[in-house]
Formats: sequence, C-alpha cells, structure tokens
Amino acid sequence: MLILICDAFDPSLPKRLERFGEVTEDQARLRDAQVALVRSKTKCTAEWIAQAPKLKLIIRGGVGIDNIDAKAAKERGIEVRNTPNASSVAVAELAFALMIAVPNHLVEAHNALKLEGKFLKKEIKRTELMGKTLGLVGIGRIAQELGKRARAFGMRVLAFDPYVKSSEAAILVPTVKELFQQSDYISLHTPLTDETRGMINRESIANMKNGVVIVNTGRGKCIVEEDLVEALKSGKVGAYATDVWFSDPPDPSCPLLAAPNVIMTPHIGASSKENLLRIGDEVVELLEKSGK
Ligand code: NAD
Repeated sequence: MLILICDAFDPSLPKRLERFGEVTEDQARLRDAQVALVRSKTKCTAEWIAQAPKLKLIIRGGVGIDNIDAKAAKERGIEVRNTPNASSVAVAELAFALMIAVPNHLVEAHNALKLEGKFLKKEIKRTELMGKTLGLVGIGRIAQELGKRARAFGMRVLAFDPYVKSSEAAILVPTVKELFQQSDYISLHTPLTDETRGMINRESIANMKNGVVIVNTGRGKCIVEEDLVEALKSGKVGAYATDVWFSDPPDPSCPLLAAPNVIMTPHIGASSKENLLRIGDEVVELLEKSGK
C-alpha cells in the first residue's frame, strides 16, 4: 500500500506509518497512492481525484472537510475520514488569543512600540472581558472549549446551535438573531454549509450591538467580506479577529487585508505542536481500523 502525505503533519508521522505500507511525500506519486493524507492546503477536487485512480481512502487531518469534493470521492468509492477530536483545544486557544488581543490592543501597542518607537501609554484605552457577553455560533467541540475558557474569565457565554438541545458550556438561545443582539463578542464555530455560508452579512450585522467584536476561527466564507469591511469602516463592528479566509492564502485584493481594526493569523488554528501529534495518533488509529 502506498500512503501519500500531501500536507504538513508532525515530522514523526512518516516513520509511524511505515508499518502500514510505503510512505511518500512525493506528490508526483499521486497516481499510485491508495491512501492520501491531507490537511487544508490540498484541494481534493474532482480533477485531483481523477489523477489518483488507485485511491481508496482520503484522511483529512483536522475537522472541516470542505476542501474535499465528497460527491466525486463517493462516486469513485473513496472513503473520506477526518480527525475531529484532536484539534479542539488548539483552535479554542487561538480563538481566545484573538479575542483577548482586541480589548487589550496588543497588536496596535506592539506595532507602535516596535515599528515606530511610540509608547502609547495614554492613548491606548483597554477594556476587560469580564462581565461581557460572548455569543458562540455553533456549540460543538471547539466552541465548548472556548466557552469554558471564557467563563473562567468571567464572561457570560451564550450559544446558538439548532442541532444541539443542551450544553454545559453555554446558555442556549433560540435564534441566531437573539444571539447577535445580546453579544459583545461573537465567535464562529460552525462548519461551512449552505446555512452558514455568508451568515455574517449586512442584514445580520445590523442586528448586532454597536462596536461588537467578531472572532472567526471557523470558515472565512461564513462572512460576506464587503459587508463586514463596510461595518468595520463605520465602527458598527469594532473589530474582526480572524484565522480563516475566503481563500487560503487570501488574494491580495481581499478587502479585509486593508480594513481597519482587523487582527489576522494565517489559518494556524490547528497547527499547535501538541495537536499535530494528536492528529498523528488519530491517523494511525484510522488506518488500523480501516484495514486498507
Ligand atoms: P463540531 O462538529 O464539533 O461543531 C460544529 C457545530 O456547529 C455543531 O454543534 C453543529 O450542530 C453546529 N452547527 C451546524 N450548523 C449550524 C448553524 N447553521 N448554526 C449554528 N450552529 C450550527 O466541529 P468543531 O470541531 O467544533 O469545528 C467547528 C469548525 O471549526 C469546523 O467545521 C471548521 O470549519 C473550523 N475549524 C477551523 C480550524 C482552524 O484552523 N481555524 C481548525 C479546525 C476546525
């Protein structure tokens, strides 16, 4: 069996997989691969799948499988698996880091001092997370971890999730409109679906509190970029802190890159050292169970 590692995994993984067959990172060998390991970089489109006639299994190291054409894989009888449990803490910690960077003006203060030698002691007006309301869109694995951390900081944590009946990590609200109306901070944790695509748009933003902070470690396409940029410019949205983009990496013309009050990271939510090891564990487990 030939296992093709397409994207960045923990460096220990190739050795760990040798007991299942030959392991390669040579992308030119896609044609001979029976198993492909991808993260978010490789786009498993119908064309990509057509170049892999022997492929039986695609393992996505991570959660969202929106980079894989599930229909094309199914038509070819290719099994698609992911490693949904590994990444929750890594992504929740990044979401928390993005969130807490905003009221503390960390990026602005750092850049002013480091790049311009400006000591903005009087100019920077910090606020605290304590007593503020965090609204989680989706209360799955990552959002639950973020909810626990936010509560430890004294935040009131609400969530909207039409597919969840109860949660220990948040107070559930019945509509997303109510969530948006009550939240000082909104954090997105849904998969990209027809329901969630573009859910942050001019109309939904109009329902939010003035100066709301939006944190996105979910998917960039849940946002209508032009509408968000307009709201950032007017101050309706106080800040947008994002790890995820419409495309990876964002096109240089992406309007968020030049918009005010945006804090950005390059889709590193799942990339902690510890998480890459956990993803490796889940990959090994999946291969053991698959018997491929
Ligand atoms: P999960 O499946 O545990 O949770 C997703 C939750 O979203 C579920 O509870 C589901 O019921 C809910 N949901 C679905 N549709 C909804 C809707 N229309 N409105 C509200 N809630 C809805 O997944 P998770 O592990 O928590 O991951 C969440 C998302 O985070 C992933 O789908 C992925 O897009 C993203 N993610 C990003 C990174 C990163 O590097 N930034 C890493 C991992 C995952």
